[in-house]
Amino acid sequence: MKKPEYIMIHHSAVSYDRNSDQFEANNNYHKAQWDFKSSLGFYLGYNYEIAKNGKVRQARADGETTAACYQQNMNDGRCIHVCLDGHFDNEKPQPAQIFALRDLLRKLVDKYKIKKDNIIFHRDYASKSCPGSNLDIVFIRSLVNGQTEAQNDDENIKEELINILNKAIELIKRL
Ligand SMILES: [Zn+2]
Repeated sequence: MKKPEYIMIHHSAVSYDRNSDQFEANNNYHKAQWDFKSSLGFYLGYNYEIAKNGKVRQARADGETTAACYQQNMNDGRCIHVCLDGHFDNEKPQPAQIFALRDLLRKLVDKYKIKKDNIIFHRDYASKSCPGSNLDIVFIRSLVNGQTEAQNDDENIKEELINILNKAIELIKRL
């Protein structure tokens, strides 16, 4: 297990209108291709896959070896690979997929302190269009925007409430 430093976005390159939840199909396909079982008991090469309806399935633990991008050691666990069902050269991701991706990215970025610039596309590492010409890296990175500020606000409010409560307790004790 490695500490994840990158998150790479992929598409399945199969239209979500042909198959709206491709996890099983891809798991079987990758089993036939590599027979490379994950610690979670799956064969899918990616860590996560997001179906047309936004359902997220995890196939490999974060930091586990993957079979998703052979360039620059991106399979050794340093990179969490997220695949969206669809062919985004021809169609656009569904809003439910974007919301699910946003929530997943925010969770992973926060958990592993991953730099926003380390959210990357497969096509920047291999000569393919993955995750499709309809996906824009600036937009995808913007999905994690505001996370830190919002969290800080929450933390500040929590701290303030605790201070007020402590003061109230002190006052009550003096009564
Ligand atoms: Zn890819």
